[in-house]
Amino acid sequence: MTNYLKNAFKSMGMTPQNAPIPGTTQVANSAGGYSWKVNDWQRLSRFLVLGSQSGTYYISEKALTIENANAVLNCIREDGLRVVREIVAISEAGRAPKNDPAIFALALVAAKGDDAARKAALDALPQVCRTGTHLFLFAEYVQTLRGWGRGLRRAVGTWYQALEPRKLAYQMVKYRQREGWTHTDTLRLAHPKPVTDSHGAIYKWVTHREEANWAADIVPPDDEALAFIWAFERVQTAQNVDTVLKLVQAYDLPREALPTQWLNEAAVWEALLTKMPLTAMIRNLGVMSKVGLLTPMSDAEQTIVTRLGNADMLRKARIHPIAVLSALRVYAQGRGVRGESTWNPTSRVIDALDAAFYLAFQNVEPANKRMMLALDVSGSMSMGAIAGVPGLTPRDGSAAMALVTAKTEPNYTIISFQNQIVPLNISARMRLDDAIKVTHGLPFGATDCAQPMLYALEKKLKVDTFVIYTDSETWANPALHPVQALAQYREKTGIPAQLIVVAMTSNGFTIASPDDPGMLDIVGFDSATPQIMSDFARGMI
Ligand code: CA
Repeated sequence: MTNYLKNAFKSMGMTPQNAPIPGTTQVANSAGGYSWKVNDWQRLSRFLVLGSQSGTYYISEKALTIENANAVLNCIREDGLRVVREIVAISEAGRAPKNDPAIFALALVAAKGDDAARKAALDALPQVCRTGTHLFLFAEYVQTLRGWGRGLRRAVGTWYQALEPRKLAYQMVKYRQREGWTHTDTLRLAHPKPVTDSHGAIYKWVTHREEANWAADIVPPDDEALAFIWAFERVQTAQNVDTVLKLVQAYDLPREALPTQWLNEAAVWEALLTKMPLTAMIRNLGVMSKVGLLTPMSDAEQTIVTRLGNADMLRKARIHPIAVLSALRVYAQGRGVRGESTWNPTSRVIDALDAAFYLAFQNVEPANKRMMLALDVSGSMSMGAIAGVPGLTPRDGSAAMALVTAKTEPNYTIISFQNQIVPLNISARMRLDDAIKVTHGLPFGATDCAQPMLYALEKKLKVDTFVIYTDSETWANPALHPVQALAQYREKTGIPAQLIVVAMTSNGFTIASPDDPGMLDIVGFDSATPQIMSDFARGMI
């Protein structure tokens, strides 16, 4: 570009994307363009929701995790109690696809916070680590970050003591190990004094299982919690399917309690389905089809469809939209992720999963604004996997997120862009996995996040709110930045248009100016995100 042009552009509020807008705090992004750096608190939210598993196009999983950990540490230094509150808010409401980042962040506070923050982190342990698996993961993280001091031992002990005996027995049977940790390890470290006789008997069973021979007793103990453990031991030695069925039905044994040889029987799955938690049900749809239980017009199909349609149940079980989406994609294709098993999916279950995806978001009210939903489908958006879900790229996730708003808003258009507009044929009536297939197949291209605003200007589209789903790694426009395109749009149309940037990776950049109240940076696949978008578009936040 000649100096004449450069100077002319500058006077018109135009800066090439490979240079920072003068007078702003823009920084170089990973693609060689300039964006803003999100602050550490925003980074914390991105990390808690999106995690850093599988990295991004530009940055490895390890490097991304270190960047995010440093941001979390900065937040802990600034206000450790606030970090604990953020962790609890996202984890307890099930707003993130995976709980692992919350557990990691909690372990960081428990290790690196000041006295008050460390105490708050340990007090929050039962709220964030709700299963034995979560507890083991916490133990693994915290062990590498700090020693087993008294506070930590007491907190882990309290975790066990606070459970009622029957719930304690369930945790012991269902979640027996992870990350090389077992309840034997955590109990030996924490050494809780039993609060009831049942607790004592359960601890003893865990730590001295070989010495006790529970399965030898033909009669179950009177105590409900101990009877559950007895049933678990009995089912290990069951010789026929009738015995297995009786034990599952009488004691509500979960799938994890059964030796795998019984998991090829339709009758066993039928018995399990009666009390099966929703998470397990959603994960095992393929298996239940494969063994012949879940077939068209079967009772099992009716049960499953009814449960998937129950928004309260979905929310109580903290079913995240990503979990539903992931199940839908696998179930609908009729074969497991590793391709080892196949089944015939039923149409009603596929449709029920499609509907459950939308139900799993927190209530969304329409903003009733003219919305342009713009998907960044450039090359970088097709690398990495959201929340570690195999094959679910940020670009695929964008399509699914855009459909949530498209389903809610009466007045919207969906476009997609690279360094030019890319034709895209998806609409709110499409099934999720079909919409994702459309975006998934697009070719790679460069990135220019100014395209949506330029397109709206050129086509004279009236837009109140631009929503851009992106990693904010914009670089490919030699003339102007996204916010400058938005400024032009506002000036030429007289519409005070807003910009919402939906972050689809946990990197540290945003194209939204932190100084413009008409712009919002939020995290993709937080189940609260569609509602926050709607509130912002209506001027409520
Ligand atoms: Ca890109």
